[in-house]
Amino acid sequence: MPASFDRAGATPMMAQYLEIKAANTDCLLFYRMGDFFELFFEDAEIASRALGIVLTKRGKHGGNEIPMCGVPVERADDYLSRLIALGHRVAVCQQVEDPAEAKKRGPKSVVRREVQRLVTPGTITEDRLLDPARANLLLAIGRRKVSDQAYAYGLAALDISTGRFSLSEVADSALSAAIARYEPREIVLSEAIYSDPGLARLWRDTSAAVVPLAQAELEPASAERRIREQFGVATLEGFGAFSRAEVAAAGAALLYIERTQIGTRVPLSAPTQEASGATLAIDAATRANLELTRTLSGERKGSLLDTIDRTVSAGGARLLAEHLAGPLTDLEAIGSRHAAVTYLAGEPSLRGPLRDALASAPDIARALSRTGLGRGGPRDLAALRDGLDAAARIAGRLAGAENAPKLLKDIAERLSGVDDGLVAELTIALADELPLSRRDGNFVRSGYRAEIDEMRELGRDSRKVIAALQARYAEESGCRTLRIKHNNVLGFYIEVPQQVGEACLKGLMKDFVHRQTMVDAMRFTSVELGELESKVSSASDRVLAMEGEVFDALASLVLAQAGIIADVAEALAALDVATSHAELAVELDWVRPKLDESVALTVEGGRHPVVESALRRAGEPFIANDCDLSGKESGRIRLVTGPNMGGKSTFLRQNALIVVLAQMGAFVPARAAHLGLVDRLFSRVGAADDLARGHSTFMVEMVETAAILNQATRRSLVVLDEIGRGTATFDGLSIAWACLEHLHETNGCRALFATHFHELTALSQRLSRLDNATLRVTEHRGEVIFLHEVVPGIAERSYGLQVARLAGLPKTVVARAGAILKGLEASERDRPARRKIDDLPLFASLADAPPPEPVHPVIADDGIGDLIDELDPDAMTPREALEALYRLKKER
Ligand code: ADP
Repeated sequence: MPASFDRAGATPMMAQYLEIKAANTDCLLFYRMGDFFELFFEDAEIASRALGIVLTKRGKHGGNEIPMCGVPVERADDYLSRLIALGHRVAVCQQVEDPAEAKKRGPKSVVRREVQRLVTPGTITEDRLLDPARANLLLAIGRRKVSDQAYAYGLAALDISTGRFSLSEVADSALSAAIARYEPREIVLSEAIYSDPGLARLWRDTSAAVVPLAQAELEPASAERRIREQFGVATLEGFGAFSRAEVAAAGAALLYIERTQIGTRVPLSAPTQEASGATLAIDAATRANLELTRTLSGERKGSLLDTIDRTVSAGGARLLAEHLAGPLTDLEAIGSRHAAVTYLAGEPSLRGPLRDALASAPDIARALSRTGLGRGGPRDLAALRDGLDAAARIAGRLAGAENAPKLLKDIAERLSGVDDGLVAELTIALADELPLSRRDGNFVRSGYRAEIDEMRELGRDSRKVIAALQARYAEESGCRTLRIKHNNVLGFYIEVPQQVGEACLKGLMKDFVHRQTMVDAMRFTSVELGELESKVSSASDRVLAMEGEVFDALASLVLAQAGIIADVAEALAALDVATSHAELAVELDWVRPKLDESVALTVEGGRHPVVESALRRAGEPFIANDCDLSGKESGRIRLVTGPNMGGKSTFLRQNALIVVLAQMGAFVPARAAHLGLVDRLFSRVGAADDLARGHSTFMVEMVETAAILNQATRRSLVVLDEIGRGTATFDGLSIAWACLEHLHETNGCRALFATHFHELTALSQRLSRLDNATLRVTEHRGEVIFLHEVVPGIAERSYGLQVARLAGLPKTVVARAGAILKGLEASERDRPARRKIDDLPLFASLADAPPPEPVHPVIADDGIGDLIDELDPDAMTPREALEALYRLKKER
């Protein structure tokens, strides 16, 4: 703690501040002073920099000036959200007594203050701080030893903005992928896990705020107690058989919630347990590379999620993101999602009205959670009213849908779970126009409570009486500009312009008490006015109190059905997602993929959804391409060569995306697709610049490639784009070569492999499940034309110069490069031995390896090798040589 926190010699207020700060050193302290939250010392410096607000000074401490900055209370949410977005945690310290009370204790007494809540990235609930389309997850991590060297990790993923709480356990090799899937805003874990050197990279690389908790607080017994208390159960068994790691994670999550929400019981759904391996494992690099939920530059726009999102509700948008982040591996569950999409796609007259009704349903999950936390307002109650009303209408429509598949029938049933009385009560109780906060009052509909109507009438009458009084005073004084006004300091007062002065008030002066003289006006009160005022204000106080009671009663009605309402919210979201997929499938002509337990991967006429939609906007067609990696026991590998810009990456990724889409329950952009379930998906691009993380790019590439070779199974799909590019040619080539062999021989997975190393195509001779494919290109008047068509075979040239010209490299540079290339090619011809990869010293040793020696494809090609063998150049006339050449060309 900085020396400035020494309390000696501090003013009483500063002493209080320092005491509170000392208990919250890891947070910025928002210290309430009247209408402002003030920050002092280092907090002030951090906040003023982060928020761009003025840094001032307030008094001195320990001989030095105290830096200070402040934010107005009514705008605090905006500032909070910016600080939270930057990963800060904020302790909100409120005044907990009336300043008048403090004065009574003595002139130097300070108002009592307490930290009422820690606002942290993973525990926020306010709409203004939340992204409606994204879950806001807190992820707690616990672990248990499974052997001397290995741990299993328990994960508790918790969204207090909706009350969702799920538990799972993963092996240590899957921890990183699991964190990437949840994309938590905040991670809590024990000191031991935090400081485990093997995991340090995870905490460094995550964008979440990472909060280690002291080991002593995380004992198994207290974790279990917390879970029992939270859910009011005597034993945990009712929820499922949780592992010690899961219990530890749940305990850590609840401890952190307790600590940040201070005294507020957080309503959470009973924890659901997810079996290990229930979702397609996709690690962080693959997610980033495939741009699943955000693009490489970090934006949602342009991601797969953005492209496929046709949801119309916030809950639906969140669930869609969740499904995309965790595609399933269970055939039946995927099949039931597909069946719902098929049905909805075929029923446009049902789909349209359903979407309208879904769009009209507000975000009840978050409104419910705020209400449960005591942070709800009248608009949350209205959101619940409208959302539940929409749910009932939707349930009605679905119930009438004939032959609807099970998923939709279940949804219909879940939607009709809420007792009708609740919506009816909210409807008659709430006014049309609602304030944000219950403290603003005026949200109870007139006619709902007779006492409230009476008091409001009284208030209104008094106002009429005040208006009459103003008219009388004006009349009696002859001053037509006399007004009765109101402010917070004086309450009601009489104001007359200065130039009118006391003279004209003569008759009334005996009744008036002078209160203020302004530059251009004088202000008075009178006994009569005072009496009226107390009537008005006590009436409005009474109304406010009674409205508060109504609010509490309505909130308890809502909370009595909290579990059912939460389920309705989830069912609405699930319906929105299914309808979104159906809408998309119809709009873009996507098909239902066939899935099974095989190692098939056959895509006919596949397209890349994001590239296609960008091209569509530009009015250009996307060329659909087939892909077949199906094998019997093990998958096949397709090695793709072709010029830059030919469409290699697009082709590779589109097939990975088709798998993700299929397993999340969506249709796929293809004419037909048959996919064997994928357990893990890997996608890497060579030499992506990653300077930000401080690794050499090549090192990163190798670390990631190693992970694939160690983890990919027969059921995995691996997509490698230009691996080995990040180092010198021979190194890169040999690494790529060895990786391909390993994938083929050891992993046995389905794989797509794009490369610039044309030498690798020779491997198809030795590796039985490897095929070569290339992107077709033609030339027209020296210009290269990319056809974006994937065909069997090998790229003939790389067209680097043509691409360079297309890219706008100066003509002189392109011409010079052409000359250099000619020279190089000529010198290459002079050393024919160099053209054959197996003659390179590095690869000579590979010839001893058991698989047959790779053969140059020209020689290997059926019949051509024989033809060449028959030729005897020394005995040929130039004409015969030319004819032989024509013959060879024809054979190709
Ligand atoms: P490569 O990986 O071979 O360098 P990309 O896959 O990055 O090539 O594709 C380059 C560009 O070509 C894309 O941005 C897209 O505009 C276009 N493209 C790629 N594939 C197709 C396709 N199948 N149909 C139409 N245009 C395509």
